[in-house]
Amino acid sequence: GIVVTGATGALGRLVVDELLVRVPAADVAAVVRDKEKAAGLAELGVELRLGDYDRPETLEDAFRPGDRVLFVSGSEVGRRVAQHTSVIAAARAADVAQLAYTGVLGGPDADFDLADEHRVTERLILDSGVPHTFLRNGWYTENYTANLGPVLEHGTVVGNAGDGRIAAAARADYAAAAAAVLTGEGHLGAAYELSGDTAWSLAEYAAELTRQTGRTVTYTELTPEAHLSVLVGAGVPEPFARILVDVDDAIARGRLAGTSGDLARLAGRPSTPLADSVAAALAAR
Ligand code: NDP
Repeated sequence: GIVVTGATGALGRLVVDELLVRVPAADVAAVVRDKEKAAGLAELGVELRLGDYDRPETLEDAFRPGDRVLFVSGSEVGRRVAQHTSVIAAARAADVAQLAYTGVLGGPDADFDLADEHRVTERLILDSGVPHTFLRNGWYTENYTANLGPVLEHGTVVGNAGDGRIAAAARADYAAAAAAVLTGEGHLGAAYELSGDTAWSLAEYAAELTRQTGRTVTYTELTPEAHLSVLVGAGVPEPFARILVDVDDAIARGRLAGTSGDLARLAGRPSTPLADSVAAALAAR
């Protein structure tokens, strides 16, 4: 069957929805660490399998021979190498036919802190010999549009990304690409650099907010230290705030700007324009 881990998360759920457009629900299984949280998935007719990345014994029955698996990277930064090691071992033991892993744009060349665990994971997958596909995801547009409250309140987007561009795409775009890779042929051994068709700077993002709200929103470039204090002041735990400051540094250096076109080719449609994501976020407020 087709198996999605992290299916109770935002991306995984969208992938399940995309799969159900293409294949019967009986062919789809969701690996979840909390079956109660997965009630909505069960209602869709999707098989639920228990699998906690932190508890290898729970992963023993998560995968079956011949499964095509979307392995959604864990969300607990700093713990992911151990977690992912367990998932890969379980996939290998089960003799899955495909392990598609959601890594980060740039793969082995991504040189920022948040990419470290993805780089190690890709290497572990290669060393495991499990047939694989690397889905190297760029940034979600929602990383920005989910945070409109303070931006509109203060009339400014802050960061230390300079005029670096971000080829972000909507989560739904990445989900469509993942579903294509899980249901199509010819993707084994491939590494896709997935990103939006158009890269934009944070100043351009602010300009789009201005255009759609009719209120002036600017981009304020901060020093890394000043950005760190803003994030910590807003309640972001300091270790993660440091990672975000480092991400902005990577953006300034163009590391998240790549527009390979892989995402649109796999999804079979253009990526969601920034203007559409902004409009959706404003409408949801
Ligand atoms: P979510 O946090 O919404 O989903 C993460 C999923 O991973 C959840 O289903 C979560 O389960 C599951 N998970 C986390 N830890 C474990 C564990 N120990 N065992 C089993 N399952 C686990 O993130 P998104 O869906 O938005 O993003 C998917 C992944 O992409 C993230 O986990 C992260 O690796 C990466 N990411 C990428 C970003 C980008 O811009 N490209 C931005 C942010 C994250 P549960 O529902 O039980 O919590």
